[in-house]
Amino acid sequence: MKRFVYADHSATTRISESVMEAMLPYLKENYGNASSIYGLAGISEMALNRARSQVAKALHAQPEEIFFTSCGTESDNWAIKGYAQTMKKKGKTHIITTAVEHHAVLYTCKALEKEGFSVTYLPVDATGAITVQQVADAITGQTGLVSIMYANNEIGTIYPIAEIGALCRKRNIVFHTDAVQAVGNVPIDVKAQNIDMLSLSGHKLHAPKGIGALYVRRGVSPQPLLHGGGQERGKRPGTENVAFIVALGKAMEDAVNHIEEKTAKVSKLRDRLIDGILTGIPAVRLNGGRENRLCGNVNVSFEGIEGEGILLLLDAVGICASSGSACTSGALDPSHVLLAIGLPHSIAHGSLRLSLNEENTLEDVDYILSVLPPIIKRLRSMSPIWDEEKQRAVSA
Ligand code: PLP
Repeated sequence: MKRFVYADHSATTRISESVMEAMLPYLKENYGNASSIYGLAGISEMALNRARSQVAKALHAQPEEIFFTSCGTESDNWAIKGYAQTMKKKGKTHIITTAVEHHAVLYTCKALEKEGFSVTYLPVDATGAITVQQVADAITGQTGLVSIMYANNEIGTIYPIAEIGALCRKRNIVFHTDAVQAVGNVPIDVKAQNIDMLSLSGHKLHAPKGIGALYVRRGVSPQPLLHGGGQERGKRPGTENVAFIVALGKAMEDAVNHIEEKTAKVSKLRDRLIDGILTGIPAVRLNGGRENRLCGNVNVSFEGIEGEGILLLLDAVGICASSGSACTSGALDPSHVLLAIGLPHSIAHGSLRLSLNEENTLEDVDYILSVLPPIIKRLRSMSPIWDEEKQRAVSA
C-alpha cells in the first residue's frame, strides 16, 4: 500500500504544533513593532527577549550573545565576512575551513579570497572526517579564523568540535562553526566546547523558513553586514520578524528537550535503514562512516544509475528524499562533498540522501526498504552504463 514518507529532514522540516501555537498570536493580534514605546510594542519586545533566552539556554550561552538573522546562510556570511574584516585590522588574513562545508561557507571564503584573504580548505578522509592535527598543522602566524561545520549536511559526519575549539582558544584564534544540521541532533554547549561563533537555522528544527541566529561570544566582534537601525544592539539592523523569532525560540527549547531519547530513537531507525539497503541491494556503498554520524542521516551511492531517476521513482511511491544536497540537486555537477571523499563522478551521480527525524516511524523505514530495491533494479535495467553480467562477475 502506498504511503507518504517524508525522509528529507536535512532539507527542511514541518512546523510543529507547539511552534505554530507559540507563533500565531504574533502574526495576528500582537503585531507591534518591538522598537515602539506603547503597550502593544512592549508585548513584542517581551517576546523577543523570551526567545533570545530560549535560544541562549539551548546552547548554554548568554542571551546577549544571541543575534537573530534571516537564515543559516546569513549567519555564516556574517560570521565569516564580518570577522574577516575585524581580524584584518589586527593584521591577520588567513582562514582555515574544510573542503566539505555548505556553500554558504565555501562561497563566502571564495569571495574573501578575491579580497586578498588566503584560505586553507582542509581535505577529508574517505568517511568525510578531519583530524584536529590537520587543523593544528594548517595554522600560521596569519591565521585569524577557523570555520568548521559541526555536522555535514550531505553525509552526516560529525566533526571534533570541542577539540578544535580547545585548540583555537589556546592559539588565540576565533572559532566559528556552522551548526545548522547539528542543533537538535547533538547536544551543544558553546562554553564547554570553546565555540566563539555558531550559526543555526530555524527551518531545520520545526520553525519556519527564513529565520536563523548567530551566537557570538562576548568579546568577539564581527563587523556588521548590514547598516541601518539599532535593532539587535545595532549589529543586525532591520525590523525584527517577531513571529518567526518566537517560533525559533520555541523550536530551540523543544529541540533540546529529551534530546537523548530522540536521538536514540532516530539512530535505531537510521541503522535499520542503512543495514536494509546494504544487505538488500547489490553494488551499493554507504557514504560517511558508521561512527560520528548524524542520527538521521543515510547517504548511499548506487552504481550504474543517476540519483535524479531514483528521486522521481521514489516520489511516485510517496517518498520525499534528496540526491546530493537539496541545495545542489537540479545541478548536473556531482556534489562537492561526495567528490571530496573520493567517489568517482560516475558513482557520485548515483547518490541518495534519506534524512530521518523523530517524526519518522519503523513503518516508514520498512516501507522505504520494500520499494527501494525494485526501483534500483528497474533503473539499472534501463541504464546504458549498468552491465549486470560484468557486475555479477565482479561480485562472484
Ligand atoms: N549550512 C548547512 C550545513 C546547511 O545544511 C544549510 C541548509 O541546508 C545552510 C547552512 C543554509 O541554511 P539556510 O537554508 O537557513 O540558509
